Amino acid sequence: MNYEKYKSTALKNRLFTWRDIDKLIHQIGINQWQTLGTSYLGKPIRMLRIGTGPIKIMVWSQMHGNEPTATAAIFDIINFFTAGADENQNLRDIILNNCNLYFIPLVNPDGAETFTRNNAQNIDINRDYLAQQSPEGKILKQAREDIKPDFCFNMHDQSTLYCTPNKQPVAMAFLAPPHDATLQVNWVREQAIKVIVCMVQALQIHIPQHIARFNDAFEPRAFGDNFQKYGSSTILIESGGWLNDDEKQVIRKYNFIALLKAFEVIAKQSYQNKDVINYLMLPENQKNIFHILFKNVLIKSKKRDYRLDIGLNYTEKFNAKTRTLSKNWHVEEVGDLSNHTAYQIIEASEYYIDKPVKLFQLANLQLFDNKHILIYSWAKGVNKKNG
Ligand SMILES: [Zn+2]
Repeated sequence: MNYEKYKSTALKNRLFTWRDIDKLIHQIGINQWQTLGTSYLGKPIRMLRIGTGPIKIMVWSQMHGNEPTATAAIFDIINFFTAGADENQNLRDIILNNCNLYFIPLVNPDGAETFTRNNAQNIDINRDYLAQQSPEGKILKQAREDIKPDFCFNMHDQSTLYCTPNKQPVAMAFLAPPHDATLQVNWVREQAIKVIVCMVQALQIHIPQHIARFNDAFEPRAFGDNFQKYGSSTILIESGGWLNDDEKQVIRKYNFIALLKAFEVIAKQSYQNKDVINYLMLPENQKNIFHILFKNVLIKSKKRDYRLDIGLNYTEKFNAKTRTLSKNWHVEEVGDLSNHTAYQIIEASEYYIDKPVKLFQLANLQLFDNKHILIYSWAKGVNKKNG
């Protein structure tokens, strides 16, 4: 499958807004979209229905405004389905003749504007299923009640700081959310699990070792858990991290591959012979990963020199004026970090630091080599050089 052919080139990074999405919707044809309601600040939230088949599939993205990866992937998928007849027409026909697809991209447009998780009321929409105080939460709940989908896909981004037990960054994580606190697997949840097994098998060709299962805990306020409870087989998909893919354009492609595979196996009903055990055997998200890890740095001290591993992470800071993201670095942990991994691991036994290393504050760090040449440097959390 030539993904690039269907990629929505208007969406280039994670910082698109409702306006960009609105433009795309008009290009596709606004008449085909149904307005479900408006966000707290009045932006229309729209849904596109494609297909004529009896199996109903509802896909929504970006309940959390700063989790946009799947929104872009949804527009890539829409391009796939609306492209003229081509070498993939057979797959397109199978899906559209057997399924009705309901896409609701960008559930939280106000949060996308400010690149924040929550909506303009500071409500986490995905904790508002019961309270129903956000207009966006009301829209999403109502959409499921109206459509009564057989399958739901709840698309998110997770922290880039998850790894597998094999110390690989998690690019994609999946969960069939539990329908109650017992975490039992009923028929509805079992269907979701079997579809996940198919998606994972499709992704393992591309990113073996980088797929995990999201934390399996019942969250009574969340949408996925409740949709599962009320009879729609629901799948949570989390876009994680990938080396040198800050804007998650690589992971966006894996969203496309996973979703398309899911639609295919649902349309063909071929997921039904999959074994739940393959889902249970997926490694779980773990937190033993840093963005950068310096190994074995010499710390020069008046009392006594010693050696440390130093794990550095960044948080992203959004500049609303320029609509850009910058990285604020801090030292997360020091000491023996031999059971940890990182996106970038630097063997640093030839480097030294001549000041104490402080935790959790904006990083002020200078690493020199044994000729006293400055090699890596951070000032007030900003990376000045290399690293
Ligand atoms: Zn989220």
